[in-house]
Amino acid sequence: MNMLHAGFLKPGSWSGRIFDGGWLASAAGTLTVREPATGDVLAETGLAGPQEVAAAAKAAAAAQKSWAAMLPQARAAILNRAADLLEQNGQELIPWIMRESGSIEAKAGIEIEHGAQFLRHAASLATMPMGLVLPTMDGRSSHARRLPHGVVGVISPYNFPLVLSVRAIVAALAVGNAVVHKPDPRTPISGGIIIARLFEEAGLPAGVLHVLPGGADAGEAMCKDPNIAMISFTGSAAGGSKVGEVCGRHLKKVQLELGGKNVLIVLDDADVDVAASNCAWGAFLHQGQICMATGLVLAHESIVEALADKIAAKAQHLPVGDPASGRVALGPVISPNQVETIQHIVDDAVAKGARLLAGGKADGLFYPATVLAGITPDMLAFREELFGPVACIMSFAGDAEAVRIAQDNDYGLSAGILSASTSRAMAIGNQLRTGMLHINDQTVNGGPFAPFGGFGKSGNGTRIGGPADIEEFTQWQWVTVRDQAQPYPF
Ligand code: NAD
Repeated sequence: MNMLHAGFLKPGSWSGRIFDGGWLASAAGTLTVREPATGDVLAETGLAGPQEVAAAAKAAAAAQKSWAAMLPQARAAILNRAADLLEQNGQELIPWIMRESGSIEAKAGIEIEHGAQFLRHAASLATMPMGLVLPTMDGRSSHARRLPHGVVGVISPYNFPLVLSVRAIVAALAVGNAVVHKPDPRTPISGGIIIARLFEEAGLPAGVLHVLPGGADAGEAMCKDPNIAMISFTGSAAGGSKVGEVCGRHLKKVQLELGGKNVLIVLDDADVDVAASNCAWGAFLHQGQICMATGLVLAHESIVEALADKIAAKAQHLPVGDPASGRVALGPVISPNQVETIQHIVDDAVAKGARLLAGGKADGLFYPATVLAGITPDMLAFREELFGPVACIMSFAGDAEAVRIAQDNDYGLSAGILSASTSRAMAIGNQLRTGMLHINDQTVNGGPFAPFGGFGKSGNGTRIGGPADIEEFTQWQWVTVRDQAQPYPF
């Protein structure tokens, strides 16, 4: 754990500063980053406000033109170099992610691994075909090509700060956009400084990427700024709704990747031991602070009690503590506010008759793996996103009822179905309004090659990753060419 002072991220040039290609002081001041597990100060970054956003957006707009004009293979080479650097320095960076966001080592390792995969996927986007030859209407040549939007503003959350920032930044860069990025002020190092350092070392031209740690005021300034053409936002439905409203007023393209209340359906023919393991992983990983977390376990009435007991047995044996201190399965949740939200939803369920089989009480920011059985639709735990380590369990009597209950929710991000019969599971899955559907798996799945996103309150119908990236981060231009201009009747 003393890797924090090794070479790649050694505080020095970046300490107390924001990034514009180099490191500069901000008139808005500095941001103190604290470890949620201990309350200790981890580092300082620069803090950006609306003034810094305006300057960054202007500089990015100027730098974008030559970046878009650069040969695609040169853009790809920079992205691949950044991927190499992330992998080479992964062991140094993992403790930063653990300490800043309260992650266990395995989760921090996933961020490094997926971050590098997103960078390599973006490198491949840079050299993809970017147009179509269209049927001619009158003999002249007609084609359509994809052009970058210009400057893309990226706003990211605290929970998987590195991956959720990287996935948008690198797809936008790959296809010729410049980027102004605002990580969450609680995780500006994993969500921002690491990425700035990667591109500084990889040789990205100055001005193409700006990293501005800041709060909602900086985010709102990005949504209004005339030099920013598109906002890619990952965060809560409440935040996304405000961002969408401001972007709409300013006629800006907006990508909203929001929350979820994800259902894992366990059919009567599923292996109950394997199902318990899937439920525990889906509900408890990273303290449940994942948009795709298993928010509701819907189990057939013939197996629901056995399943609940097995999940509770697992929950009781998952150690909770400071991830930097040793082998724990659950670290702290991010803030006292988040603890309050979790406790409120758990208490509401218990008051309305849910059975608390494990956990249920916080110790500071440490919330133990918690199991609530007997969830009913009148409880907050039935429909609210918890963002805490709580397995909420409910029973159903038949497949049609499972579909009806699963659909009784405004979100539509991820769903899982466990069954010995894939065709039966698929028949249920076909009736679910969900952006991501996993047969014989829990709900937490992600990666660079898949179009990630959801229906309903989980977003605005956009997707990020895989085949969605070119669609989201470029727009069409129709081009016709005549050998000579023709006279018209006027
Ligand atoms: P949040 O909406 O509070 O904050 C997310 C980001 O938006 C932060 O950088 C924040 O500073 C900024 N922000 C907040 N209000 C803003 C405003 N009015 N204008 C501009 N920027 C603003 O979200 P959070 O609580 O930090 O993150 C957790 C939420 O994110 C959960 O709901 C989770 O499900 C969701 N999430 C979604 C995905 C996904 O890909 N769909 C991934 C991870 C997290």
